[in-house]
Amino acid sequence: MASIELRGISKRFDAVVAVNRLSIDLREGELVALLGPSGCGKTTTLRMIAGFETPNEGEIFFGDTEVSTLPPERRNAGMVFQNYALFPHLSVFENVAYGLKMRKVAKAEIERRVSEILSKMQLSELRDRRPRQLSGGQQQRTALARALVINPAALLLDEPLANLDAKLREEMRFFIRSLQQEFGITTVYVTHDQSEALVLADRIAVMMGGVLQQLSAPEDIYRRPRTAQVADFIGLTNLIPGTVTERSGETLQVDTPVGLLLAKGVDGLRAGDPGLVSIRPEYLYFDETAAHLNAKGLMDSLNRVHGVIQERSYLGNLIDYRVEIAGRQTLRVQSGPEHRYGVGDDVTLTFSGDDAWVVSEEGGTP
Ligand code: ATP
Repeated sequence: MASIELRGISKRFDAVVAVNRLSIDLREGELVALLGPSGCGKTTTLRMIAGFETPNEGEIFFGDTEVSTLPPERRNAGMVFQNYALFPHLSVFENVAYGLKMRKVAKAEIERRVSEILSKMQLSELRDRRPRQLSGGQQQRTALARALVINPAALLLDEPLANLDAKLREEMRFFIRSLQQEFGITTVYVTHDQSEALVLADRIAVMMGGVLQQLSAPEDIYRRPRTAQVADFIGLTNLIPGTVTERSGETLQVDTPVGLLLAKGVDGLRAGDPGLVSIRPEYLYFDETAAHLNAKGLMDSLNRVHGVIQERSYLGNLIDYRVEIAGRQTLRVQSGPEHRYGVGDDVTLTFSGDDAWVVSEEGGTP
């Protein structure tokens, strides 16, 4: 087990800057998810950590050892690829044993370690099968077993659940998380699926265009995004443009097309600055439930806007509304099935200033 430190690493492919001066410090045993849209440089970053690519600048450390230019086999990282990359002509046992054989581990010891990990992965019964005789989930577990059996210094996962169906993907999230915690292994997990990152990670590194936008715990990324792009990428949000008119401690007053709003916001915003008020659909309440905010002591910074229901979609566990406010702004509201508003109904929406979050348009530094 080791900490992993990326110090200002960059990778260029001709004119493309795939990763731009990226710095991330992973504590021992921590799981950091690299999250971002397609092409933002996640896989390139993981490949540099694994040793399949060399950074053009910057350094990579495993613990106190600089590994930036070491070949993959000298870094002792366990890697799981999106397509699993199992050897098709080898059995499950032989696939998992491969790394130990390469390291010239004694035969009896290989048998013991492979049997132990196969049992943990519930693969003992399948040890003689070839990969093509396995389901996607079983191939996935074999790839994980192969990565873990070598007692790696770090576990590197590249979209490991992308090829599984939705239900299995959800199960495997919990399986990977409990395995990672049991082994206490420092892990970098690449995904473009935000819910996967929110569930699995100790911290999430959001990347865009090769640049780190924010590195924070899942709840901070969701509730306190640093830029409008991060707010928009993680989950659904409403972004209301405006100008900060007052700052009092942590509370901002923002003049917007739907009226004066109270909110919290990123550091450094002051009166006169333009900003976007981000408010998540699940934090907007129909009028009757303002009592709910009162009970939570959130009435001090209550925002109230009036609007008309424009669209309504039934999603089973909730209803998704689009509400037009004063003909100027459409807000998305998600609420439990207890409200039964129809298109054209006049409604009042309330939300707490604690749940509204102002970001500046150009974004800040991570
Ligand atoms: P995805 O989620 O689609 O896998 P990603 O975030 O992992 O995307 P990367 O695969 O790291 O993104 O790619 C980052 C950028 O670098 C992209 O613009 C990509 O086209 C480019 N790139 C990656 N590998 C190479 C290469 N070997 N040669 C040239 N350009 C490359």
